Amino acid sequence: MTSYSINKERLADSFTQLCEIDSPSFEEKPMADFMTELLTELGAELVTEDTSAKHTGSNSGNLIARFPGTVNKEPVFFACHMDTVSPGRGIQVYRTGDIFTSRGNTILGGDDKSGIAAIVEMIRVLHEDALPYGPMEIILTTCEEVGLLGAKNLDTGLVHSRYGYALDSTGINRVVLGAPAANRLKIEVHGISAHAGLNPEQGVSAFCLAARAIADLRLGRLDEQSTANFGLISGGVARNIVPDLITIEGEVRSHSPEKLRDYTREIESTFRNVVMGWSSQLGGNRQPSVEITVEPEYPVMRIGDDDPVITRVKRAADILERELVFEVSGGGSDANIFNSYGLQTAIIATGMDKVHTTDESLDLRDLVSVTELLLAIMACDF
Ligand SMILES: [Zn+2]
Repeated sequence: MTSYSINKERLADSFTQLCEIDSPSFEEKPMADFMTELLTELGAELVTEDTSAKHTGSNSGNLIARFPGTVNKEPVFFACHMDTVSPGRGIQVYRTGDIFTSRGNTILGGDDKSGIAAIVEMIRVLHEDALPYGPMEIILTTCEEVGLLGAKNLDTGLVHSRYGYALDSTGINRVVLGAPAANRLKIEVHGISAHAGLNPEQGVSAFCLAARAIADLRLGRLDEQSTANFGLISGGVARNIVPDLITIEGEVRSHSPEKLRDYTREIESTFRNVVMGWSSQLGGNRQPSVEITVEPEYPVMRIGDDDPVITRVKRAADILERELVFEVSGGGSDANIFNSYGLQTAIIATGMDKVHTTDESLDLRDLVSVTELLLAIMACDF
């Protein structure tokens, strides 16, 4: 079996250092500056920041770094997001043996600093061991956690590779090749306000209309490919006023674009039917109404078993005599957006665990194992 001279302690140090650079969404600049310097030092021929900041509202654009490589091979990219969720300010990394955690009052930031740390160590080993490797690009995005904003505004003209890997998933030795599409829904139910004690018969409760529609809906797991949820509700003015506006927000996800469309329509028509049905009971021009906004959040992602991005990672696993598990996931990420640009992107798990919680942890041995996989991807005959 091939083995690489990964420096485990150096990898631990750079993971710790990366986690301790605060980079909440929209505030990735210190991280981008640090990575620009580091990637340049590591021999990148070019490190560019794209102009996405104008559109995302972040204080940094996405970073794209290019390494020319030493041999002529098919170019490949590795992508991670620089931003982290809250609570993610003032992170202090604790290490017990091989396990990293936060101090308990913040996340750790292994999502997605684990991927970045593995990339950095991979590049160091490529150079130290003088391993022949082909052209490689590193893409570091902003604002992934707040709607994939960096990826949605990526200047794809700066990316020369046709396929690559996003290092951004829990578990280890997992490769994600499919993810659902999602629609975001905002529904504003307009009723008619009236004093609840003096003249309730003149009012129509937006609350009751929304409740009736929701009770008529199918939510949760709709079929093996699809889910739906309403997670936010707001409205009303006072306890004694019949509410004239209730806003609810939710989402539909599906691995099938057709089902996504059909379930979204089903929700729309359920709300319209309930509101129209109620209006018919009233005379005159005092009618309740409903406004529905559907925004596509991200498109479906599906990579074929025989696509080069998958064949190459399988070849890498063979070199390491390692079994990989290929799966579809229930969540959307930057990879959904990259794939929609025609940049085929498979997601590689980095060992991150209990992400988005203050119990988040990472095992250094998993980080070593991911770095090995990246090295094998670069070194394999592809
Ligand atoms: Zn992530």
